Amino acid sequence: MKIWAMTAPKKPLERIEVADPTPTGTEVIVRTTHCGLCHSDLHLWEGEYNLGGGKRMNILERGVSFPRAPSHEIAGTVVAIGPDATGVAIGDTRIVYPWIGCGHCDRCRDGEENLCATMKPIGVITHGGMAEQVVVPHPRYLVDPGTLDPGLAATYACSGITVNGAIRKLEIRDPSSPVVLVGAGGLGLAAVAMLRAKGHRTIVVVDVNPDKQQAALEAGATTFVDGATADLTGALRAAAGGPLLYAVDFVNTDTTARAVFDSLGKGGRMVMVGVAGGELTLSLAGMVFVPRTVMGTAMGSIQDLKDVVALAQTGKLAPVPTERMPIDRVNEAFDRLKDGRVTGRIVLEYD
Ligand SMILES: [Zn+2]
Ligand SMILES: [Zn+2]
Repeated sequence: MKIWAMTAPKKPLERIEVADPTPTGTEVIVRTTHCGLCHSDLHLWEGEYNLGGGKRMNILERGVSFPRAPSHEIAGTVVAIGPDATGVAIGDTRIVYPWIGCGHCDRCRDGEENLCATMKPIGVITHGGMAEQVVVPHPRYLVDPGTLDPGLAATYACSGITVNGAIRKLEIRDPSSPVVLVGAGGLGLAAVAMLRAKGHRTIVVVDVNPDKQQAALEAGATTFVDGATADLTGALRAAAGGPLLYAVDFVNTDTTARAVFDSLGKGGRMVMVGVAGGELTLSLAGMVFVPRTVMGTAMGSIQDLKDVVALAQTGKLAPVPTERMPIDRVNEAFDRLKDGRVTGRIVLEYD
C-alpha cells in the first residue's frame, strides 16, 4: 500500500510504498476513504510542542518514529478482519476511534482509553489515515457513521470528541447558564455548534481576531468579545452577566488563561484544551476562598465518539465546515494549516 509519511521533522511528507497489513487476532483493516488534518498533526510534523516557560516536548522522545503516516481522523471501509474480530463485516463503513489504550488499566476499563498511560494512538505511534490501509486493534474502536457524510464523520474522532469531552467536563446543570468559549477557530466554532445542539442558549465567544466575530455569531454564539480588549476579565464578566461558571479555553495563552481564570466565580469550572504554550500561576489561598476547578482535557472517550455521532444523526448538530482535498495534495494541506489559511477542517480524500 501507499502511505503519505513524515520522514523527518519539518520535511515535506513523502509518498512511499510499504507492505499491506495482514490482520491477526482481533485486528480489523480499514481502507481509508477520508482523513482529517488536525493541528496536532502539525505539531507531530514540527516534532515538538511548546510547553510554556521555555520548555518544549520533543515528540521523537515520546515514542514516535519515522516514517509515520499521520492523521487520527479516519473514516473508511473494512477490507479485512482478523480471525478473532466479531461484530464487523467486510464492506462496512466505519469511523476509527484512534486513541488506543492498553485495554487493561483502570482508565481503559472505565472506557477512557484516551487517558491510558500507555496509549498508542493511531496516526501517531502507528500509521493513520494518510496510509491507504489502517490497522485497528479491535472492532470496539469502530463506530458506524450511519447516514452521516464519512468525510465529516471522520473529524468527530478528534475535533468532535475533544469538544464533546470538554463540554461534558463542564458539568453544566442548566442550559440557560452562560458558557464562555475562548477561540473562534475550528474547535471553538465546533463547540458553539455542539452547545447549540445540546440546547444551550447563552454562548460567549472570545477571539483576538475581530474578523472571527461574524463566523462565531453565525455558528450560534450570542455574544462576541474582542480578546484584545485591555480589561478582558471585566469584558468576560460583563458578557456573561457576572462571574463565570463555565468556560473552555481553546487557546491557552498566558493572557487568555489568566483572564478566564480571574473571571471565574465560586464553583466555576475552566476546561483547558488549547496548547498555545501559556502558563498560569494560582493563588492557592485564593483557590480556597473562591473554590474553582481548573482542568485539562485531551480528546475524548469512545463513548464521546458514539455520543457525537448520535447527536449528529438527530440533525441538530450543524456540520463543521470541511474543505476537501485529494490525498496527493497533503503537503499543500499542511502548508495551509501552518499558515492559518484554513476555514474549518481540511479533509483529505482518496479516489
Ligand atoms: Zn487531533
Ligand atoms: Zn490502559
